[in-house]
Amino acid sequence: MSAIHLQNLVKTFGDFNALKTMDLAIADGEFMALLGPSGCGKSTTMNMIAGMEQPTSGKILFGDRDMAGVPMGRRGVGFVFQNYAIFTHMTVRQNLAYGPRMRGAAKAEIDRRVGTIAEMLQLTPLLDRKADRLSVNILQRVAIGRSAIMEPAIFLLDEPLSNVDAAFRAVMRTELKQLQRQFRQTMVYVTHDQLEAMTMADRIAVMDHGVLQQVGTPLEVYNNPANVFVARFIGAPGMNLLKGRPAESDRGLVVDLGPLGVTPPLPDELAAALRGVRGDVLYGFRPEQAMLVENGGISMPVTFVERIGARTIVHLGQGENAVKAVFDNDVGVSIEQAATIAPPAPSVRIFDAATGVAVN
Ligand code: ATP
Repeated sequence: MSAIHLQNLVKTFGDFNALKTMDLAIADGEFMALLGPSGCGKSTTMNMIAGMEQPTSGKILFGDRDMAGVPMGRRGVGFVFQNYAIFTHMTVRQNLAYGPRMRGAAKAEIDRRVGTIAEMLQLTPLLDRKADRLSVNILQRVAIGRSAIMEPAIFLLDEPLSNVDAAFRAVMRTELKQLQRQFRQTMVYVTHDQLEAMTMADRIAVMDHGVLQQVGTPLEVYNNPANVFVARFIGAPGMNLLKGRPAESDRGLVVDLGPLGVTPPLPDELAAALRGVRGDVLYGFRPEQAMLVENGGISMPVTFVERIGARTIVHLGQGENAVKAVFDNDVGVSIEQAATIAPPAPSVRIFDAATGVAVN
Protein backbone atom coordinates (compact mmCIF):
# COMPACT_ATOMS: atom_id res chain seq x y z
CA MET A 1 0.00 0.00 0.00
CA SER A 2 2.81 2.43 0.82
CA ALA A 3 4.91 1.73 -2.24
CA ILE A 4 5.12 4.76 -4.53
CA HIS A 5 5.20 4.52 -8.30
CA LEU A 6 5.98 7.52 -10.46
CA GLN A 7 5.08 6.70 -14.05
CA ASN A 8 6.09 8.98 -16.93
CA LEU A 9 5.75 11.92 -14.57
CA VAL A 10 6.17 15.31 -16.27
CA LYS A 11 5.90 18.83 -14.86
CA THR A 12 6.08 22.01 -16.88
CA PHE A 13 5.74 25.58 -15.60
CA GLY A 14 4.65 27.65 -18.60
CA ASP A 15 7.10 26.54 -21.26
CA PHE A 16 9.76 25.46 -18.72
CA ASN A 17 10.11 21.73 -18.36
CA ALA A 18 11.00 21.26 -14.66
CA LEU A 19 10.60 17.46 -14.72
CA LYS A 20 11.07 15.43 -17.88
CA THR A 21 9.51 11.98 -17.78
CA MET A 22 10.36 10.60 -14.37
CA ASP A 23 9.89 6.88 -13.74
CA LEU A 24 10.65 5.69 -10.25
CA ALA A 25 9.46 2.81 -8.09
CA ILE A 26 9.89 3.28 -4.34
CA ALA A 27 9.27 0.12 -2.33
CA ASP A 28 7.08 -0.09 0.76
CA GLY A 29 9.26 0.78 3.76
CA GLU A 30 12.12 2.04 1.63
CA PHE A 31 14.18 5.14 2.42
CA MET A 32 14.64 6.86 -0.96
CA ALA A 33 16.71 10.01 -1.29
CA LEU A 34 16.12 12.40 -4.20
CA LEU A 35 19.56 13.91 -4.65
CA GLY A 36 20.76 16.57 -7.08
CA PRO A 37 21.93 20.15 -7.45
CA SER A 38 19.69 23.14 -6.90
CA GLY A 39 16.92 23.44 -9.50
CA CYS A 40 17.10 19.83 -10.73
CA GLY A 41 13.44 19.16 -9.95
CA LYS A 42 13.62 17.39 -6.57
CA SER A 43 11.09 19.59 -4.78
CA THR A 44 8.80 19.61 -7.80
CA THR A 45 8.75 15.79 -7.72
CA MET A 46 8.16 15.80 -3.97
CA ASN A 47 5.35 18.36 -4.17
CA MET A 48 3.56 16.20 -6.71
CA ILE A 49 3.88 13.12 -4.46
CA ALA A 50 2.47 15.20 -1.59
CA GLY A 51 -0.40 16.50 -3.74
CA MET A 52 0.66 20.14 -3.52
CA GLU A 53 1.31 20.32 -7.25
CA GLN A 54 -0.54 18.53 -10.04
CA PRO A 55 1.49 16.64 -12.66
CA THR A 56 1.36 18.01 -16.21
CA SER A 57 1.16 14.38 -17.33
CA GLY A 58 1.95 10.95 -15.97
CA LYS A 59 0.79 9.06 -12.91
CA ILE A 60 1.51 8.74 -9.21
CA LEU A 61 0.40 5.51 -7.57
CA PHE A 62 0.44 4.67 -3.85
CA GLY A 63 0.31 0.88 -3.93
CA ASP A 64 -2.10 0.35 -6.81
CA ARG A 65 -4.14 3.45 -6.01
CA ASP A 66 -3.94 6.30 -8.53
CA MET A 67 -3.46 9.59 -6.66
CA ALA A 68 -4.85 11.78 -9.47
CA GLY A 69 -7.33 14.19 -7.92
CA VAL A 70 -6.69 13.00 -4.34
CA PRO A 71 -6.08 16.13 -2.23
CA MET A 72 -3.06 16.45 0.03
CA GLY A 73 -5.02 15.91 3.24
CA ARG A 74 -6.38 12.59 1.99
CA ARG A 75 -3.10 11.07 0.84
CA GLY A 76 -1.97 9.92 4.28
CA VAL A 77 1.45 11.50 3.90
CA GLY A 78 3.53 13.34 6.49
CA PHE A 79 5.52 16.29 5.18
CA VAL A 80 8.45 18.18 6.73
CA PHE A 81 9.92 21.21 4.99
CA GLN A 82 13.20 23.06 5.24
CA ASN A 83 11.50 25.72 7.34
CA TYR A 84 9.92 24.26 10.44
CA ALA A 85 6.19 24.77 10.62
CA ILE A 86 5.28 24.81 14.28
CA PHE A 87 3.13 26.89 16.63
CA THR A 88 5.54 29.16 18.45
CA HIS A 89 3.03 30.15 21.16
CA MET A 90 2.65 26.53 22.24
CA THR A 91 4.92 24.28 24.26
CA VAL A 92 6.81 21.40 22.65
CA ARG A 93 4.28 18.99 24.19
CA GLN A 94 1.32 20.91 22.76
CA ASN A 95 2.97 21.01 19.36
CA LEU A 96 3.59 17.27 19.36
CA ALA A 97 0.10 16.51 20.65
CA TYR A 98 -1.62 18.76 18.10
CA GLY A 99 -2.13 16.21 15.31
CA PRO A 100 -3.40 13.32 17.44
CA ARG A 101 -5.65 15.74 19.37
CA MET A 102 -7.21 17.04 16.14
CA ARG A 103 -7.84 13.42 15.16
CA GLY A 104 -9.71 12.92 18.44
CA ALA A 105 -7.25 10.52 20.09
CA ALA A 106 -7.83 9.78 23.80
CA LYS A 107 -5.63 11.64 26.30
CA ALA A 108 -3.80 8.51 27.46
CA GLU A 109 -3.04 7.61 23.87
CA ILE A 110 -1.81 11.13 23.11
CA ASP A 111 0.44 11.08 26.19
CA ARG A 112 1.88 7.73 25.19
CA ARG A 113 2.64 8.85 21.65
CA VAL A 114 4.10 12.19 22.74
CA GLY A 115 6.32 10.30 25.22
CA THR A 116 7.59 7.90 22.55
CA ILE A 117 8.35 10.56 19.96
CA ALA A 118 9.92 12.93 22.51
CA GLU A 119 12.20 10.14 23.70
CA MET A 120 13.20 9.25 20.16
CA LEU A 121 14.02 12.83 19.24
CA GLN A 122 15.61 13.75 22.59
CA LEU A 123 12.86 16.24 23.35
CA THR A 124 11.76 14.80 26.72
CA PRO A 125 13.52 17.44 28.87
CA LEU A 126 12.08 20.21 26.69
CA LEU A 127 8.45 19.10 26.59
CA ASP A 128 7.16 21.98 28.70
CA ARG A 129 9.25 24.68 27.07
CA LYS A 130 7.53 27.27 24.89
CA ALA A 131 8.55 26.85 21.26
CA ASP A 132 9.47 30.53 20.87
CA ARG A 133 12.32 29.98 23.35
CA LEU A 134 13.98 27.19 21.37
CA SER A 135 16.85 27.21 18.88
CA VAL A 136 16.37 26.58 15.15
CA ASN A 137 17.92 23.12 15.62
CA ILE A 138 15.40 22.10 18.25
CA LEU A 139 12.49 23.68 16.38
CA GLN A 140 13.25 21.49 13.38
CA ARG A 141 13.32 18.46 15.67
CA VAL A 142 9.88 19.44 16.97
CA ALA A 143 8.64 19.88 13.39
CA ILE A 144 9.83 16.38 12.52
CA GLY A 145 8.23 15.04 15.71
CA ARG A 146 4.93 16.74 14.90
CA SER A 147 4.74 14.96 11.59
CA ALA A 148 6.18 11.65 12.78
CA ILE A 149 3.68 11.34 15.64
CA MET A 150 0.92 10.86 13.08
CA GLU A 151 2.77 7.71 12.00
CA PRO A 152 2.19 8.39 8.31
CA ALA A 153 2.79 5.38 6.08
CA ILE A 154 4.57 7.76 3.70
CA PHE A 155 6.86 10.39 5.16
CA LEU A 156 8.16 13.14 2.85
CA LEU A 157 11.05 15.34 3.97
CA ASP A 158 12.29 18.23 1.84
CA GLU A 159 15.75 19.42 2.92
CA PRO A 160 14.78 19.15 6.61
CA LEU A 161 18.34 19.65 7.83
CA SER A 162 19.55 22.45 5.60
CA ASN A 163 18.96 25.16 8.20
CA VAL A 164 20.41 23.34 11.21
CA ASP A 165 24.08 23.49 12.12
CA ALA A 166 26.62 20.88 11.05
CA ALA A 167 27.07 19.09 14.37
CA PHE A 168 23.32 18.84 14.88
CA ARG A 169 22.84 17.62 11.33
CA ALA A 170 25.10 14.64 12.03
CA VAL A 171 23.02 13.70 15.09
CA MET A 172 19.77 14.16 13.19
CA ARG A 173 20.90 11.88 10.38
CA THR A 174 21.10 9.02 12.84
CA GLU A 175 17.81 9.93 14.51
CA LEU A 176 15.90 10.15 11.24
CA LYS A 177 17.20 6.79 10.13
CA GLN A 178 16.18 5.25 13.47
CA LEU A 179 12.76 6.86 13.24
CA GLN A 180 12.20 5.38 9.82
CA ARG A 181 13.35 1.92 10.95
CA GLN A 182 11.09 2.03 13.99
CA PHE A 183 7.94 3.04 12.09
CA ARG A 184 8.86 1.14 8.88
CA GLN A 185 7.71 4.10 6.84
CA THR A 186 8.25 4.70 3.20
CA MET A 187 10.45 7.77 3.37
CA VAL A 188 11.25 10.12 0.51
CA TYR A 189 13.98 12.54 1.40
CA VAL A 190 14.97 15.52 -0.78
CA THR A 191 18.51 16.78 -0.37
CA HIS A 192 21.37 18.35 -2.29
CA ASP A 193 23.76 17.01 0.38
CA GLN A 194 25.25 13.71 -0.74
CA LEU A 195 26.43 12.87 2.77
CA GLU A 196 22.81 12.84 3.96
CA ALA A 197 21.74 10.70 1.03
CA MET A 198 24.71 8.32 1.34
CA THR A 199 24.36 7.79 5.09
CA MET A 200 20.59 7.42 5.38
CA ALA A 201 19.06 6.19 2.16
CA ASP A 202 18.47 2.59 1.08
CA ARG A 203 18.60 3.89 -2.48
CA ILE A 204 19.37 7.22 -4.06
CA ALA A 205 17.67 8.75 -7.11
CA VAL A 206 20.23 11.13 -8.58
CA MET A 207 18.65 13.94 -10.63
CA ASP A 208 19.94 16.72 -12.86
CA HIS A 209 18.08 19.23 -15.03
CA GLY A 210 14.74 17.52 -14.51
CA VAL A 211 16.09 14.12 -15.57
CA LEU A 212 16.60 11.05 -13.39
CA GLN A 213 20.25 10.13 -13.93
CA GLN A 214 20.55 6.94 -11.89
CA VAL A 215 18.79 5.00 -9.15
CA GLY A 216 20.85 2.74 -6.94
CA THR A 217 22.13 1.97 -3.48
CA PRO A 218 24.67 4.45 -2.12
CA LEU A 219 27.47 2.04 -3.01
CA GLU A 220 26.16 1.44 -6.52
CA VAL A 221 26.04 5.13 -7.40
CA TYR A 222 29.48 5.59 -5.84
CA ASN A 223 31.17 2.57 -7.41
CA ASN A 224 29.29 2.29 -10.69
CA PRO A 225 28.05 5.71 -11.75
CA ALA A 226 25.82 5.43 -14.81
CA ASN A 227 27.25 8.54 -16.40
CA VAL A 228 29.70 11.40 -16.05
CA PHE A 229 27.26 13.59 -14.14
CA VAL A 230 26.82 11.00 -11.37
CA ALA A 231 30.58 10.27 -11.35
CA ARG A 232 31.34 13.93 -10.70
CA PHE A 233 28.42 14.70 -8.40
CA ILE A 234 28.88 11.75 -6.04
CA GLY A 235 32.04 11.72 -3.95
CA ALA A 236 33.94 14.55 -2.32
CA PRO A 237 36.00 15.26 -4.34
CA GLY A 238 34.16 13.70 -7.30
CA MET A 239 35.57 11.08 -9.64
CA ASN A 240 38.72 11.94 -11.62
CA LEU A 241 37.99 11.91 -15.35
CA LEU A 242 40.82 12.03 -17.86
CA LYS A 243 40.27 12.32 -21.57
CA GLY A 244 41.65 9.52 -23.69
CA ARG A 245 40.92 7.32 -26.65
CA PRO A 246 41.16 3.64 -27.45
CA ALA A 247 44.69 2.81 -28.60
CA GLU A 248 45.49 1.67 -32.17
CA SER A 249 46.69 -1.64 -30.80
CA ASP A 250 43.55 -3.28 -29.43
CA ARG A 251 45.13 -3.58 -26.04
CA GLY A 252 44.39 -0.34 -24.37
CA LEU A 253 43.85 3.27 -24.03
CA VAL A 254 45.81 6.43 -24.60
CA VAL A 255 45.11 8.98 -21.88
CA ASP A 256 45.97 12.66 -22.36
CA LEU A 257 48.25 13.46 -19.49
CA GLY A 258 50.37 16.25 -20.92
CA PRO A 259 54.06 15.98 -21.62
CA LEU A 260 54.84 14.22 -18.34
CA GLY A 261 51.99 11.80 -18.52
CA VAL A 262 52.32 8.08 -18.84
CA THR A 263 49.34 6.10 -20.08
CA PRO A 264 48.08 3.70 -17.44
CA PRO A 265 47.83 -0.01 -18.22
CA LEU A 266 44.32 -1.30 -18.77
CA PRO A 267 42.81 -4.50 -17.39
CA ASP A 268 41.74 -7.08 -19.98
CA GLU A 269 37.99 -6.83 -19.54
CA LEU A 270 38.14 -3.05 -19.92
CA ALA A 271 40.26 -3.30 -23.03
CA ALA A 272 37.59 -5.62 -24.41
CA ALA A 273 34.75 -3.23 -23.49
CA LEU A 274 36.61 -0.40 -25.18
CA ARG A 275 36.69 -2.19 -28.50
CA GLY A 276 33.02 -1.26 -28.92
CA VAL A 277 33.68 2.45 -28.41
CA ARG A 278 34.52 4.87 -31.19
CA GLY A 279 35.99 8.26 -30.44
CA ASP A 280 37.11 9.76 -27.17
CA VAL A 281 36.53 8.27 -23.77
CA LEU A 282 36.95 9.45 -20.19
CA TYR A 283 39.14 7.37 -17.90
CA GLY A 284 37.65 7.58 -14.42
CA PHE A 285 38.75 6.62 -10.96
CA ARG A 286 37.85 7.75 -7.46
CA PRO A 287 40.42 9.93 -5.65
CA GLU A 288 40.16 7.59 -2.64
CA GLN A 289 41.11 4.58 -4.75
CA ALA A 290 44.38 6.00 -6.06
CA MET A 291 47.53 4.40 -4.68
CA LEU A 292 51.05 5.76 -4.83
CA VAL A 293 53.20 3.44 -6.94
CA GLU A 294 56.77 3.41 -8.20
CA ASN A 295 55.80 2.98 -11.82
CA GLY A 296 53.05 1.65 -14.07
CA GLY A 297 50.65 4.42 -13.14
CA ILE A 298 49.82 8.02 -13.95
CA SER A 299 52.82 10.22 -13.32
CA MET A 300 52.20 13.94 -12.92
CA PRO A 301 53.60 16.92 -11.06
CA VAL A 302 52.08 17.62 -7.64
CA THR A 303 50.48 21.08 -7.65
CA PHE A 304 48.97 21.27 -4.18
CA VAL A 305 48.77 19.20 -0.99
CA GLU A 306 45.83 19.66 1.39
CA ARG A 307 46.16 18.10 4.82
CA ILE A 308 42.76 17.83 6.51
CA GLY A 309 43.25 16.06 9.80
CA ALA A 310 43.96 12.43 9.04
CA ARG A 311 43.24 12.89 5.31
CA THR A 312 45.59 14.20 2.67
CA ILE A 313 44.32 15.41 -0.72
CA VAL A 314 47.06 15.52 -3.32
CA HIS A 315 46.38 17.59 -6.45
CA LEU A 316 48.28 16.50 -9.57
CA GLY A 317 48.51 17.99 -13.06
CA GLN A 318 46.63 20.98 -14.35
CA GLY A 319 43.64 22.06 -16.39
CA GLU A 320 41.81 19.22 -18.10
CA ASN A 321 44.41 16.76 -16.85
CA ALA A 322 44.12 17.68 -13.19
CA VAL A 323 43.39 14.80 -10.84
CA LYS A 324 43.09 14.42 -7.09
CA ALA A 325 44.19 11.56 -4.89
CA VAL A 326 42.97 11.14 -1.33
CA PHE A 327 45.00 9.27 1.26
CA ASP A 328 44.12 8.30 4.81
CA ASN A 329 47.51 9.23 6.09
CA ASP A 330 50.13 11.87 5.59
CA VAL A 331 51.91 10.69 2.47
CA GLY A 332 55.37 11.98 1.80
CA VAL A 333 54.80 14.04 -1.32
CA SER A 334 55.36 17.73 -1.80
CA ILE A 335 54.69 20.41 -4.38
CA GLU A 336 56.58 20.28 -7.67
CA GLN A 337 57.66 16.70 -7.13
CA ALA A 338 56.28 14.24 -9.62
CA ALA A 339 54.11 11.54 -8.10
CA THR A 340 52.89 8.34 -9.72
CA ILE A 341 49.44 7.14 -8.81
CA ALA A 342 47.41 4.19 -9.98
CA PRO A 343 43.86 3.08 -9.23
CA PRO A 344 43.36 -0.66 -8.72
CA ALA A 345 42.31 -2.01 -12.12
CA PRO A 346 38.79 -3.16 -11.09
CA SER A 347 37.90 0.32 -9.86
CA VAL A 348 38.60 2.04 -13.19
CA ARG A 349 35.47 3.36 -14.90
CA ILE A 350 35.39 4.33 -18.57
CA PHE A 351 32.79 6.68 -20.06
CA ASP A 352 31.96 7.49 -23.66
CA ALA A 353 33.11 11.13 -23.93
CA ALA A 354 30.45 12.04 -26.50
CA THR A 355 27.43 10.72 -24.58
CA GLY A 356 28.81 10.69 -21.02
CA VAL A 357 27.41 7.18 -20.56
CA ALA A 358 29.42 4.55 -18.66
CA VAL A 359 31.08 1.86 -20.78
CA ASN A 360 31.71 -0.49 -17.83
P1 ATP B 1 16.13 23.53 -4.86
O1 ATP B 1 16.93 22.69 -3.93
O2 ATP B 1 16.82 24.77 -5.29
O3 ATP B 1 14.70 23.74 -4.44
P2 ATP B 1 15.08 21.54 -6.63
O4 ATP B 1 15.87 20.46 -7.26
O5 ATP B 1 14.17 21.16 -5.52
O6 ATP B 1 16.06 22.68 -6.21
P3 ATP B 1 12.73 22.55 -7.90
O7 ATP B 1 12.34 23.43 -6.76
O8 ATP B 1 11.98 21.30 -8.11
O9 ATP B 1 14.27 22.21 -7.81
O10 ATP B 1 12.69 23.42 -9.22
C1 ATP B 1 13.02 22.90 -10.49
C2 ATP B 1 12.96 24.02 -11.49
O11 ATP B 1 11.61 24.43 -11.67
C3 ATP B 1 13.73 25.26 -11.07
O12 ATP B 1 14.37 25.79 -12.19
C4 ATP B 1 12.64 26.19 -10.57
O13 ATP B 1 13.02 27.54 -10.77
C5 ATP B 1 11.46 25.80 -11.41
N1 ATP B 1 10.20 26.01 -10.70
C6 ATP B 1 9.81 25.42 -9.56
N2 ATP B 1 8.58 25.82 -9.20
C7 ATP B 1 8.17 26.72 -10.14
C8 ATP B 1 6.97 27.49 -10.33
N3 ATP B 1 5.96 27.41 -9.48
N4 ATP B 1 6.94 28.28 -11.43
C9 ATP B 1 7.96 28.34 -12.30
N5 ATP B 1 9.11 27.64 -12.18
C10 ATP B 1 9.21 26.84 -11.11
